[in-house]
Amino acid sequence: MNTTTNRAYNFNAGPSALPLEVLEVAQKELLDFQNTGMSLMEMSHRSATFEEVHNGAIERLRKIYSIPENYEVLFLQGGASLQFTMIPMNFLQQDQTASYVLTGSWSEKAVKEAKLFGKSVEAASTKENKYKNIPTVEDINFNADDAYVHITSNNTIYGTQWKVFPETGNVPLVADMSSDILSKPVDVSKFGIIYAGAQKNLGPSGVTVVIIRKDLLEKANTNIPTMLKYTTHADNNSLYNTPPTFGIYMLGEVLKWVENQGGLEKIAQNNEEKAALIYDVIDNSNGFYYGHAEEGSRSLMNITFRVADEELEKKFLAEAKAAGFVGLNGHRSVGGCRASTYNAVPREACQALADFMVKFQQDNQ
Ligand code: PMP
Repeated sequence: MNTTTNRAYNFNAGPSALPLEVLEVAQKELLDFQNTGMSLMEMSHRSATFEEVHNGAIERLRKIYSIPENYEVLFLQGGASLQFTMIPMNFLQQDQTASYVLTGSWSEKAVKEAKLFGKSVEAASTKENKYKNIPTVEDINFNADDAYVHITSNNTIYGTQWKVFPETGNVPLVADMSSDILSKPVDVSKFGIIYAGAQKNLGPSGVTVVIIRKDLLEKANTNIPTMLKYTTHADNNSLYNTPPTFGIYMLGEVLKWVENQGGLEKIAQNNEEKAALIYDVIDNSNGFYYGHAEEGSRSLMNITFRVADEELEKKFLAEAKAAGFVGLNGHRSVGGCRASTYNAVPREACQALADFMVKFQQDNQ
């Protein structure tokens, strides 16, 4: 706990920490948004005031990522999980293949949906290695006539992250960036589709950001439900139906915060330094702690590690909790420990955790 701000050391995997400055703006504007006499939550999504918020968030995201003109930015609902379904539903034909790179549970869930619509192919999988690594770009096999190649850029549960993205030529590269969107500069033009649930680096849960190349929209299947067509949302500026207005407002404020931090280059540098504080403790612990991910595949967003002794691991988690560290338990499917160090987790929280880990080792070995 930071005693001056009364804010927890929040390492939750998502929903997760939001920038304090953003929460303060939201608090200030909660009862009376820009002299309208009402909260933004109480306002029509067709009002000029909300439209400005909505379009402002789209424009900011475009600017921050230098998103080319030939891409649409959509704000959808249903989480990243609905994108697992919408992507094959819109872009995969029954007799066509799409290649999926399996790097963890979320890619497994994505491919499961693709199988409902067409033929899915495993372009590569690191399951045999307990998802400790990301395959090398050369190890990925896809077909020139695939509808797309799908990857998960950061594996929230296993703590691995792509460092170099595969070149897929004319085959659209589709990336689930739920847990590392906005954490570093990315060349959007290399991708056909980028999607992400907001609840890690973008804002509160409820909004799903989709960045999609316009030519793909022209080829999309048409015999599918209206709400599940990307074209419905693209044609209506994501205002076909009532959007999650408060979430979009918060997303816009988080984007302003990213700009104020100095943009994605600076955010990336901060993230590297923050993660290094914790990885260094793991690496210098002589095996007291060990990481799940192979070094070259380590995530800067989700640091997954174990305490070598199982009993001590339980003690570590209990004492960390008592000391005010929140969210350090690994995902329920894998156990162990996980520190999620998303953009809004302050360096000070990472330093406090690193210090706690060093002290715990000193006291317990
Ligand atoms: N993909 C990744 C990489 C995730 O981390 C998550 C959620 N933690 C999801 C997909 C699922 O997202 P949602 O809960 O928004 O459907």
